[in-house]
Amino acid sequence: MSHQELPKVDNKRVIRLIPPVLTQDRIVGFKAGLRPFRRGGVRVEEEKIGNKIFFHNYGHGAGGVSVGYGYSTLAFSKFASKYHDAHDAKKVAVIGSGYIGLFTSLLLRENGYVVTIYADKTIKTSGFSYPDSDDKTLPTTSQIAGGFWVPYGYDFNCTAEVREIHELACRLSFAFFEKTLHHKNMRGVSYKKTVHVDSIDYIKRSVPNGLIKDYEDVKVTFNGVDLIDAHYFTTLLIDGDLFLNDLKQECIRKGVQFVDKHFNTVNEILSLEENFIFNCTGCSAGKLFNDPNVYPLKGQLVAFKPTPGVDYFFRTQIENGAFVSFYPQQDVLPVGLVEQKDDWDPRPTVETCNRIAQNAIKYFEKYNTAPKL
Ligand SMILES: Cc1cc2nc3c(=O)[nH]c(=O)nc-3n(C[C@H](O)[C@H](O)[C@H](O)COP(=O)(O)OP(=O)(O)OC[C@H]3O[C@@H](n4cnc5c(N)ncnc54)[C@H](O)[C@@H]3O)c2cc1C
Repeated sequence: MSHQELPKVDNKRVIRLIPPVLTQDRIVGFKAGLRPFRRGGVRVEEEKIGNKIFFHNYGHGAGGVSVGYGYSTLAFSKFASKYHDAHDAKKVAVIGSGYIGLFTSLLLRENGYVVTIYADKTIKTSGFSYPDSDDKTLPTTSQIAGGFWVPYGYDFNCTAEVREIHELACRLSFAFFEKTLHHKNMRGVSYKKTVHVDSIDYIKRSVPNGLIKDYEDVKVTFNGVDLIDAHYFTTLLIDGDLFLNDLKQECIRKGVQFVDKHFNTVNEILSLEENFIFNCTGCSAGKLFNDPNVYPLKGQLVAFKPTPGVDYFFRTQIENGAFVSFYPQQDVLPVGLVEQKDDWDPRPTVETCNRIAQNAIKYFEKYNTAPKL
């Protein structure tokens, strides 16, 4: 059993966890992506450029997996409530094939619109890329995401109105994933126990009441001897390699067309045949649409071979100030966590990946020896 209960200490439950086996020879790959942060919050807005109507939906920062479906629903509703009867609105273009573009396309298709996704990156079998490589076929940021359902790391608290939209987006998104889990129509969504050792104030500030379940202060131990105070709760984990592949297949099954295309400028987008265009280009939206409020928070992850029984999300801050966290995905155990502001290089870098790996290996090495009983 992966979460074994021991006698209480200081009136707190003590939970024994299987530690991940993190050694250099168990590293199987690297991931990097640009979290699309936007000052002022997610831009869900209509804009007329030339003779086209754009619906923008970008700026979800470090929370796009968690809130993407909700914001896509809001963008879709803005469009459908106004243009439902417009004769030229039956055929729409979606630019971008990350979480936001795929969710938007699914919603449009389910409501009868003819949808083409144009994107220069699409979902791949795995989200790996290689340090400092010239590989042009990098995965989308969406496929990099650890997939921890906590809607933070974007600007959701700047005004009361933005906060209200955030709460609605959270609830719509959470309900979507719970429905997916219930219907089992797409893989990769599961409830996961979270063991969070450092402060959870950011979670308290961002998660609307009732969405995170079974919260408890506990002690955890990896070796039966050392006890660590931790916050323990249940949230969802979305394993991008599985879920995004199934989401893309669901879009294809429902008739969404995919076109591999890169746009250098808005003028190139204006030459599309569709008159209604959803802009779901993540970080690139800032440059394409001249929005100075957008910048990346680059993230990198080192993927280790999974350890049987390690089926919980973990996060702590270590002595040197860095964070060590891991996400229990099906085929790999990605370990992070870094945030590099305004770094536009979407590739992993040797220096950062080494640092992430060494921090995690060092933190767990004392638990990877024979257990003391
Ligand atoms: C390391 C890491 C960990 C993360 N962990 C979490 C997490 O645990 N929980 C969470 O909620 N979120 C997490 N995130 C954040 C999440 O990944 C993002 O918020 C989300 O993926 C943004 O989705 P998107 O569709 O807007 O952007 P993207 O996935 O970047 O998709 C943009 C799309 O637009 C297309 N595009 C862009 N420019 C052009 C162009 N010029 N021409 C043609 N196509 C273009 C791209 O090809 C791509 O298909 C994490 C991110 C990182 C990097």
